[in-house]
Amino acid sequence: YCQVCANPVFDKETIAGAVILLIDVTEKMQRDSLRREFTANVSHELKTPLTSISGFAEIIQSGFVKQEDVRKFAGKIFDETQRLVTLVDDIIKISQLDENCQPYQREKVDIYNLAKDVLSRLQESANKAQVQLNMEGEHAELETVLPILDEIVSNLCDNAIKYNKKGGSVTVTVLNTRNQICLSVRDTGIGITAAEKSRVFERFYRVDKSHSKEIGGTGLGLSIVKHGAAYLGAKVELESTIDKGSTFRLIWQK
Ligand code: ADP
Repeated sequence: YCQVCANPVFDKETIAGAVILLIDVTEKMQRDSLRREFTANVSHELKTPLTSISGFAEIIQSGFVKQEDVRKFAGKIFDETQRLVTLVDDIIKISQLDENCQPYQREKVDIYNLAKDVLSRLQESANKAQVQLNMEGEHAELETVLPILDEIVSNLCDNAIKYNKKGGSVTVTVLNTRNQICLSVRDTGIGITAAEKSRVFERFYRVDKSHSKEIGGTGLGLSIVKHGAAYLGAKVELESTIDKGSTFRLIWQK
């Protein structure tokens, strides 16, 4: 209000407009800052395997290496190349979800059958890790984007195997109630602390960098889960007890 005539200096619409503009600008700034951080992380994550590859190649090229070491270094170059391929694949998936512009085709999907297919695909790595896979629940149909849902469920099940313990289990359950459809992935693994529960969905975040380097992964799996679920209209919930295991739930309200 004006100090002299007591009339409002800005009418209500102008103030509301200013507030909306401010929110808009703040969101844009947050998006830009996330994008900058992502680019910096991507550069760092790509550089690490590239530096190793060029280092090992240089040693081999020098000619001062025994024959058995040549094989060893070539193996390391191969491993790092595989890591780069997975990383680039994950980055492409995230950018496609980010751009939000790819016209994904929706179709009717039985999510019980989808989860069963994912588990049979992962059976070999579960055998290697000595983890038992179980499927429970009932059939439920959704109008959804098959490749994105497949990617989400695969990432959750893959993690449930990777961060499990010898002799542990992974149970996928589909429940179709009056109000919602829920797909849960429960494991009997190492668990996640309360403090780390929200951080694990961040891009490139890994709880135990050194330990998870042996396990393998890009730190992008759960970020793809979060973005993909939002794209498909599902909520993601995480319940976890350290040393007992974790349950990730995807929930669609009807
Ligand atoms: P990663 O490629 O490292 O598996 P994710 O984004 O899928 O990346 O997961 C991020 C981190 O969250 C993992 O590095 C791991 O520390 C933790 N995590 C994910 N899933 C589980 C799980 N089921 N149990 C325990 N920790 C998990």
